[in-house]
Amino acid sequence: MQLTIFGTGYVGLVTAACLSDVGHNVACIDIDASRIAALNEGKIPIYEPGLKELVIRNAEAKRLSFSTDSAHGVRHGEIIFIAVGTPAMEDGSADVRYVQAVADTIGKHIESYKVIVNKSTVPVGSAEMVDARIRAVLNARGSNVEFDVCSNPEFLKEGSAVEDFMRPARIIVGTSSQRVREAMQECYAPYNRNHDKLMTMDVRAAELTKYAANAMLATKISFMNEIANIAEHLGADIEQVRRGIGSDPRIGYHFIYPGAGYGGSCFPKDVRALAKVAHDHGHQPELLDAVESVNERQKDQLFAKLSLALDGEIKGRRIAVWGLAFKPNTDDMREAPSRALLESIWAAGGTVSAFDPESMDETRKIYGERADLVLAKNADEAAKGADALVICTEWKQFRVADFEWLRQNLRNPIIVDGRNLYDPERVRQQGLLYLAIGRGDSL
Ligand code: NAD
Repeated sequence: MQLTIFGTGYVGLVTAACLSDVGHNVACIDIDASRIAALNEGKIPIYEPGLKELVIRNAEAKRLSFSTDSAHGVRHGEIIFIAVGTPAMEDGSADVRYVQAVADTIGKHIESYKVIVNKSTVPVGSAEMVDARIRAVLNARGSNVEFDVCSNPEFLKEGSAVEDFMRPARIIVGTSSQRVREAMQECYAPYNRNHDKLMTMDVRAAELTKYAANAMLATKISFMNEIANIAEHLGADIEQVRRGIGSDPRIGYHFIYPGAGYGGSCFPKDVRALAKVAHDHGHQPELLDAVESVNERQKDQLFAKLSLALDGEIKGRRIAVWGLAFKPNTDDMREAPSRALLESIWAAGGTVSAFDPESMDETRKIYGERADLVLAKNADEAAKGADALVICTEWKQFRVADFEWLRQNLRNPIIVDGRNLYDPERVRQQGLLYLAIGRGDSL
């Protein structure tokens, strides 16, 4: 099929690369000219395992192209995916300006029937909104070209986005049109051979499903962080509790890891947007509000622990930070817990030497050159001579640490672990002070 994707970010680029890899002919359109130029030179603007090979292979096979020419994009695709950002606005609601801009562009250039797909995470009612905007532009043009708008929320996870897209747990399509259903079935057929993963539903249900899924996952994290904090007060080890509750199949082991709070481009903004919509419709979303406030508090845990370990004396001290991305296998630092930590250290007059396997460029982009931030070449260089080590992201390479070396090379033998990577007994036997999350070790 001829497909067009508006937006070449984490979702748009992965969607395009994967759909071209199964044989579709995909045109990617972005308003960011430098991003498109980079992609045309085979440079991938984001880190996502397996993505680079896929983009290069399919671009060379002429099944995947990149352009800023939106008129060409609208002409090219039988199906047009909107995969642009929907960041949070000041009041928490989703900013749908970029989606609206694409809708207007489609209205301007559409000349034949198209299926238009909202793949961005958008508030309930957005398919109707996109439909109305396109129709308004068409009316102004005096045209009555036919089109349909459907919802097809994306569930891929950064860090395993290619794998998730290739092997989806489900493909949700919100539509009441048989024509759209057939087009979407054809588009996704290569991922749908084993058993039918394509679920069609009402468009509003599809839109809400995406928010509900993210809110549920965020709730699991905040719940575990709440229990971890209670465990800490009670002298119990949350890791043992986690295994204990995970063994119940109604609960399960997935996604019940305590930590430094959730971050990233999705959970924080989607929980807030859903809560805001609920408020606006006269419903008090008590649980969602609590999920968010527990998370905000959790993001401060690392600094609080660090502060206690250093007797409140952060000023003039250098803190080593391992991991800056909001989770492993990505370079994404949007709302990462590491940022709350870094900014608290700086506010208290401390400096940071940090290392992350993929997020160093991103960190430079966000914070620029500054005297109180050293971006180290590797984990050891970050830690050497530092007053304490804090672990923010559970990258595989941090999972095995040389505690003997750390004890000798840290100025103070202190590890604050926001991801519970190590066995507290072992670390303490090596002569280090080890503060983790919910491991019965509150100071
Ligand atoms: P992103 O910020 O990485 O990328 C968005 C891209 O859209 C940018 O390259 C931007 O230049 C481009 N863009 C903006 N306006 C445009 C326009 N008018 N025409 C063409 N391109 C335009 O965003 P993302 O992380 O890929 O997220 C996209 C959407 O998918 C969001 O709604 C997000 O909530 C949702 N989502 C994201 C993830 C994720 O893990 N990142 C997962 C599922 C769903």
